[in-house]
Amino acid sequence: MNNQQRDSLKQLMKTRINEIEGFLSPTGDDSDPDDESASLDQKIASAVNSQVSQNEKRELALIRNNLQWLDSDDAGYCQRCGEEIPFARLQAVPATRLCIGCAERS
Ligand SMILES: [Zn+2]
Repeated sequence: MNNQQRDSLKQLMKTRINEIEGFLSPTGDDSDPDDESASLDQKIASAVNSQVSQNEKRELALIRNNLQWLDSDDAGYCQRCGEEIPFARLQAVPATRLCIGCAERS
């Protein structure tokens, strides 16, 4: 990975972090804090949302870690086998630290 690729990955990760943070803390008028009037449908939707939030929070933590990883000597190398991870894969899945082969085996 050259410096240009590294910079573009960092930019991509920061954008993704902003997206997830915006998703996790909506500032719009959609959320209704009045739980007592919530219908069953709303409660189900809220449970699904909290499941989604868990995944998003996990991804957020992984990408934040990978942002620091990009500044280290191991940047871009598979955490398990040490092979260089293709740049396109890191672009597509910025939260990963595994090459495709290792990800499929895990
Ligand atoms: Zn690997």
